Amino acid sequence: MFLFKIVVAIAIAFLIIKIGVFILKSLATPPPEPPPPGELRKVKLLYRCELCGAEVRMTAAAEENPEPPRHCMEDMEPIIEEE
Ligand SMILES: [Zn+2]
Repeated sequence: MFLFKIVVAIAIAFLIIKIGVFILKSLATPPPEPPPPGELRKVKLLYRCELCGAEVRMTAAAEENPEPPRHCMEDMEPIIEEE
């Protein structure tokens, strides 16, 4: 019954993968759903990483004062931009 053993092995492997994916899915907290594009606020924010000097411009956000992005494991510093 060599073929039977292969079928059983494949079935078990499949089951293990299914369980693994299920565990991973339940562990990973799903990111919040992005709001529809119409609800996004147009913002013009500039952030600088104090540690490495990288700068990032945020052009759209869900809120008027969004949380600063992170870089080098630290919150980036907002830069007040002169118009
Ligand atoms: Zn950085």
